[in-house]
Amino acid sequence: MPLYVEVTIGRLPTPFHYRLPTSIDSASLTLGDCLLVPFRSGIKTAYFVRLIDETEVETDIKKIKDVLSISHTPFPLPPTLIKLLKWIAEYYLAPIGSVMEAGFPSFIKERWEKKSSKKQTPKIALVDTEKILSSVPLNADQKKAYTEISTAIENGGFSPFLLHGVTGSGKTEVYLQVIEKTLAQHKGAIVLVPEIGLTPQLVARFRSRFGDKIAVLHSQLTPKERYDEWLKIHENKAVIAIGARSGLFAPMSNVGVIIVDEEHDASYKQEDYNRYNARDAAIVYAKLLGATVVLGSATPSFESFYNGRIGKYKVLTLPHRVEERAMPKITMIDLRERATWITPFLTQRLLTAVEERLARHEQIILFINRRGHTHSFMCGDCGQKWQCKNCSVSLTFHKRKKKLLCHYCGFQQRAPEDCVHCKGTRLLSMGIGTEQVEEEMSALFPLARILRMDRDTTVKKGAHHQIVSAMSAKTADILIGTQMVAKGHDFHCVTLVGIVCADFSLNFPDFRSSERTFQLLAQVAGRTGRGEQKGEVLIQTFQPEHALFQVIPKYEPFYDTELTYRKDAHYPPFTKLILLILSHTKEEQVEKEAEQLADILKKISTKISNGIEVLGPAPAPITRLRNAYRYQILIKGANQSLLKSVLEQALNTFHAQHKKTSQRGVRLTIDVDPQNLI
Ligand code: ADP
Ligand code: ZN
Repeated sequence: MPLYVEVTIGRLPTPFHYRLPTSIDSASLTLGDCLLVPFRSGIKTAYFVRLIDETEVETDIKKIKDVLSISHTPFPLPPTLIKLLKWIAEYYLAPIGSVMEAGFPSFIKERWEKKSSKKQTPKIALVDTEKILSSVPLNADQKKAYTEISTAIENGGFSPFLLHGVTGSGKTEVYLQVIEKTLAQHKGAIVLVPEIGLTPQLVARFRSRFGDKIAVLHSQLTPKERYDEWLKIHENKAVIAIGARSGLFAPMSNVGVIIVDEEHDASYKQEDYNRYNARDAAIVYAKLLGATVVLGSATPSFESFYNGRIGKYKVLTLPHRVEERAMPKITMIDLRERATWITPFLTQRLLTAVEERLARHEQIILFINRRGHTHSFMCGDCGQKWQCKNCSVSLTFHKRKKKLLCHYCGFQQRAPEDCVHCKGTRLLSMGIGTEQVEEEMSALFPLARILRMDRDTTVKKGAHHQIVSAMSAKTADILIGTQMVAKGHDFHCVTLVGIVCADFSLNFPDFRSSERTFQLLAQVAGRTGRGEQKGEVLIQTFQPEHALFQVIPKYEPFYDTELTYRKDAHYPPFTKLILLILSHTKEEQVEKEAEQLADILKKISTKISNGIEVLGPAPAPITRLRNAYRYQILIKGANQSLLKSVLEQALNTFHAQHKKTSQRGVRLTIDVDPQNLI
């Protein structure tokens, strides 16, 4: 009987089927082997996924083509990693091509095709624990956390921990010692950090402790560098892999611990192709491996904290900063009192505090969650507004570039001098961004050394590093920036953090907006008072009476209040969500299909169970994005597998009805456990 194979080609969303010629030994095939296959009018390299029988073949059996040849991967992945990839494809209903790409990144295939490497026999690198620099002794809370985790590592088996430690409580030190313990057990460690390019200090700390036992994986490396780092792990020359979310797919054969630092960070969720959440996948991976997993944060995600409360994770708490350093004092400033504004958004109170710090040669961080100069542009005569031509969002004014930019699709145009509509010249620009704060601060404090850190100032390789180094070396006085300034920096001389306007993220149309704002503000606040001097935080806002400002940075009272709302409104962590986004350049088309799909979903869900809610279709909050209209449907339910089965049945019916119309290209994106509802 002929045998058939399922393969993936590039990032194409669906798998493809071919016949396996008898010359190829089917028993020798492993996931990730490369097959040459005829595809359209040419020949393509495909990845082997699995063997299938004739009943599963979706191509017309008479027309099915043969695999041309095979080259076995010189880098077989650890079997448990393959299981993880399969879980991701199933759980997230992710296009198989993208999932394979995560396990076997194209830089591996490209290099391997260039030089035919020999198969390596994996060997466990014995770590010379003597050589590892000895650490800062741990304090009592750290020791308690360390002991619990290291006992779990010694005993083996799946053990999930939530390390909830306030900013500056020494979580990183606990990770370092936990890793030492893991290496002493002849096992490896995977460490995930959000956006690794933004945390050079953390990587430096790991390097100074573990030297070349570390491989660092991130997207800013060249393909050659990434390949070298990947190979170091595959060959067991490196036993610690540090990376952003894709670091989870490090090809390590003997993982003892997975650490997810700042586990609440939204960047763990991939927002395109393959919408997996690396934090959640890390838990599943640890379960498959029978390993320890540590989620660490000062401001845990509601999902993780809830899992701690119900006993799914063991919670370890570091309630104090190291060396009895005080938590910063937080004061609210009411932006509605316009009389106190010296220049737009900069109040007398904030500026006086800056002046005091400058006089004492201490450092200051000003946080503003918008880059650019001002974020909307309007004609003062006729009210004409400047919107992106591809998206339903207003353009941001970038004064230095003399441009208006769309922060969603990158569209740009020259900043106008007069109104296109009425030729009026009284153009108003409103709102505020990092560029404007920098401009105002430079005018107010001409002698201060001011740096700005946002996506515009860090495009060049190394630029971010330079800014961080200047702050560490105290060759800068004031750092102004977006959320990049909140990410884990440990500057010892920052004694003032000013939040220029806390309201932007709070007003987002997303049920997580309070949680995100709390996390962001508590993290930025955490950048001050990390040295000997006490820190202060000034939060400017138009809504100082908002519940979160009453408790920040105390996490638990905030969590408790917010949780009641989540429960009443049927949101996570009490309910599972799947978000469907349909998009197309023609609005009528997408609206019609979204309605049809929602109808099918509603019918099936009422038949199956009444515990499932289907909301929508409704235009997405950003209705037009990159020239496509977007409609969304939200499916809610307590039982994830039930939710999935309703969706799968509905999609079968929908696709059957739309065999022809879907050719015309309404795009459907499935987002399981969405993090972002816009
Ligand atoms: P977190 O990750 O919780 O924000 P860090 O691990 O960065 O905190 O620790 C903050 C600072 O305190 C670092 O400079 C670190 O070297 C130092 N530190 C960590 N543990 C201790 C300790 N037990 N005693 C003194 N200093 C410590
Ligand atoms: Zn746009």
